[in-house]
Amino acid sequence: MSDKYVYKFGGGSADGTAVMKNLLGGKGANLAEMANLGIPVPAGFTITTEMCTVYYKMDRNYPSELKEQVNEGVAHIEKVMGKKFNDPADPLLLSVRSGARVSMPGMMDTVLNLGLNDTTVKGLAQISGNERFAYDSYRRFVQMYGDVVLDMKPESKEEEDPFEIIMDRKKKEVGAKIDTDLSTKDLGDLVVQFKKLIKDRKGIDFPEKPEEQLWGAINAVFGSWMGARAIKYRQLNDIPGDWGTAVNVQAMVFGNMGDDSATGVAFTRDPATGNNRFFGEYLVNAQGEDVVAGTRTPQPVNDESVIGEGQVTLKSIMPVPYKELEAIYLNLEKHYMDMQDIEFTIENGKLWMLQTRTGKRTVQAALKIAVDMVAEKLIDEKTAVMRIQPEQLDQLLHPMFDPKKKKVAVVLGKGLPASPGAATGKVVFHADDAEEMAAKGENVILVRIETSPEDIGGMNAAQGILTARGGRTSHAAVVARGMGKCCVAGCSDIVINYAKGQFTAAGEIIKAGDWISIDGTSGEVIKGQVDTIPPVIYGDFGTFMKWADGIRKLKVRTNADTPGDAKKAVEMGAEGIGLCRTEHMFFEGDRIIAVREMILADDEAGRRKALAILEPMQKSDFVGIFEAMGDRPVTIRLLDPPLHEFLPHDEVSQEEMAKEMGVGVEIIKEKVESLHEFNPMLGHRGCRLGVTYPEIYEMQVRAIFTAAVDCHKKGQKVIPEVMIPLVGTTREFTLLREMTDMVAAEVKKSSGVDFNYLVGTMIEIPRAALTADEIAAEAEFFSFGTNDLTQMAFGFSRDDAGKFLKVYLEKGVLASDPFLTLDQAGVGKLVEMGITKGRSVRNKLKVGICGEHGGDPESVKFCHRVGMDYVSCSPFRVPIARLAAAQAVIEED
Ligand code: PEP
Ligand code: MG
Repeated sequence: MSDKYVYKFGGGSADGTAVMKNLLGGKGANLAEMANLGIPVPAGFTITTEMCTVYYKMDRNYPSELKEQVNEGVAHIEKVMGKKFNDPADPLLLSVRSGARVSMPGMMDTVLNLGLNDTTVKGLAQISGNERFAYDSYRRFVQMYGDVVLDMKPESKEEEDPFEIIMDRKKKEVGAKIDTDLSTKDLGDLVVQFKKLIKDRKGIDFPEKPEEQLWGAINAVFGSWMGARAIKYRQLNDIPGDWGTAVNVQAMVFGNMGDDSATGVAFTRDPATGNNRFFGEYLVNAQGEDVVAGTRTPQPVNDESVIGEGQVTLKSIMPVPYKELEAIYLNLEKHYMDMQDIEFTIENGKLWMLQTRTGKRTVQAALKIAVDMVAEKLIDEKTAVMRIQPEQLDQLLHPMFDPKKKKVAVVLGKGLPASPGAATGKVVFHADDAEEMAAKGENVILVRIETSPEDIGGMNAAQGILTARGGRTSHAAVVARGMGKCCVAGCSDIVINYAKGQFTAAGEIIKAGDWISIDGTSGEVIKGQVDTIPPVIYGDFGTFMKWADGIRKLKVRTNADTPGDAKKAVEMGAEGIGLCRTEHMFFEGDRIIAVREMILADDEAGRRKALAILEPMQKSDFVGIFEAMGDRPVTIRLLDPPLHEFLPHDEVSQEEMAKEMGVGVEIIKEKVESLHEFNPMLGHRGCRLGVTYPEIYEMQVRAIFTAAVDCHKKGQKVIPEVMIPLVGTTREFTLLREMTDMVAAEVKKSSGVDFNYLVGTMIEIPRAALTADEIAAEAEFFSFGTNDLTQMAFGFSRDDAGKFLKVYLEKGVLASDPFLTLDQAGVGKLVEMGITKGRSVRNKLKVGICGEHGGDPESVKFCHRVGMDYVSCSPFRVPIARLAAAQAVIEED
């Protein structure tokens, strides 16, 4: 760390620049940059973010050199502004603001009008020719100082600001309706009363010495970095605590000096639509906080910003500063090569710039701005591709709540934002009810403690899914994402009582048939019906994605189980299917009956009989999928889940099943009992089923190959990729590969059609990664099943980890949810090892990923770096993966 703690700016130059955001914070770095560009900014200085860290290390003290550097900073401001701090005739006043590397709006403290006391207020009154203004500024300063520096702010919503109480009393006393009705004398009285309040509450005199005031404010801003609000915000936004905040001390300029003064905020382009028009609002005779507080309605800066009748533009009433503002915004945009969010103040006709920063925008605007700026030759395509966070694309593809309606809604609880979008509907607790009501045209939200494959139909019929248990890779989450359906999972704030047909949350009872709304992007569960707005996809999306596709090296496939999903995924740009989970097909229509018959059968002959009923259905599924995918590759995974998942577990359904199958209910119960496993995720599933009941896999591969033959006959040269799940030893694989080859030979012979196919494996058991060279000698492709691989590498159950993962994240045991973002340091090592070992014996081994991580941007970038050929994710995440894959290439350059 250097011993320069203070960086000056103003008067046409600065010590710092825009690239020094880490040291000077965003605000400080941009003020420096503007000063360097010759843009009029009130002179000031920035105390570095490093000092914030030192302050805490030194137990809220400073190194001795800081004082001298701050004094020099103040002297610099005095020189440039031609005013002196504490000058009784013409006092320099200061603002003291926070400014971290990234904007943390409203999370930290600010002190304005610093430098006023009983003497300087008179000088300010004299020099401004506006006594009321001077006393109003003084009143505001004492109040702010009390609130912020002396910590007198109310702690809870119920408490009132003690200064506001005094102010209200005063207003009543003199019959003033609003603050501006108070006279100069009233304001002077308030100052006296405010100071008395400080003395009474804090036992100290309000500091009259500006220097003392300044240090108080600096301490308060550094102190607010560790305030509860800021800590919470950092947690929510993954901002490290050791970044610290800078402190910006700057000359005050006043937009409230009279009718030739104003203050405003503007965006260099429209932040909602991205349209290339200068867009902003201002207030005459006001300070910045008045614009934010919304007590007066701001006016548009120019004709383009006018939204209503009778509005008065800045351009019309202050043409000279407006013209200057226009020149500055164009200059800033050209310089930063991005849309800027700016703040300005006009003091007695002179324009000052107070801030510039990259403007926040909707994803629609972000796309338009990126595409327009390439056309304007301001940025190149690669820069444009980096301008959008892959996750943001989600907002384009799902409906959203109308933000105005959501603002006033009652939030019942918050769960995991498992699948984005917005859904509103009537509560149903059972999948059947969901289907029934949806068939009648009703919108429903399926609310379950957790979902199971039996609920698929209901999930599909519902607008959205809410579960009380389960994480982001729980059944509900995975299936909902696949369907592009909104889902909030693991919402422990709700307590479901199926018997009573209700759930309770936030002290409310919500019954079946009541309306609720769920936000799969934020995880919120909302009472009642909130209107949604459909996603709007602009033409710029296509242009933008084409650039991304031109850059990326990874292929992007999809996880899809039905022709419908497959079609959707192709629309989203999928280049193949990386995972078709065949078990999902077993639940459709009558198939579940055949599946159950197979499970109940006592011997192989019985099983084969039931499987024979299933085979043509499976075959038609595969034909549908092959047709939807055209000449794109399709990987089909053989049956994976344990068989008990296909049996009902509650008594009523068991009785229904018994009736349907014409057997006694005890038989069903016995079967359920015999299939029971303590940890089914590690139990009789995946290739273990294939080894023990080869006839199941035989039926599946025959269905795959005969479907391929059908397609061949129609001229579509399908090359199916058969994938064996949960392989841990090479022998498991070779056994099943031999079976597959045998069936293929039979089908070729009986059909007279020759076709190609691949047989590969999932790598989802740590042992498979460790012995990948042995396995690759036999397998033609690998697909990393990182859901199971994560589960087994960590020893965390996919279904129950939610219980402690939340605390693990809060306490920093883990930086992120490993089921969502691949744990590169651990699970990633297994993946890397698997690829290296695999390719050491088969150098062209095709490698992909089909766990949920295949749609997570950070994980996609990892997959690129370790040399995978493709990632596979749910249809709605395909564009996200395409963009992340392109960014991975650019980031490597
Ligand atoms: C996996 O384990 O990562 C995987 C894709 O398989 P499933 O989620 O179906 O277990
Ligand atoms: Mg798996």
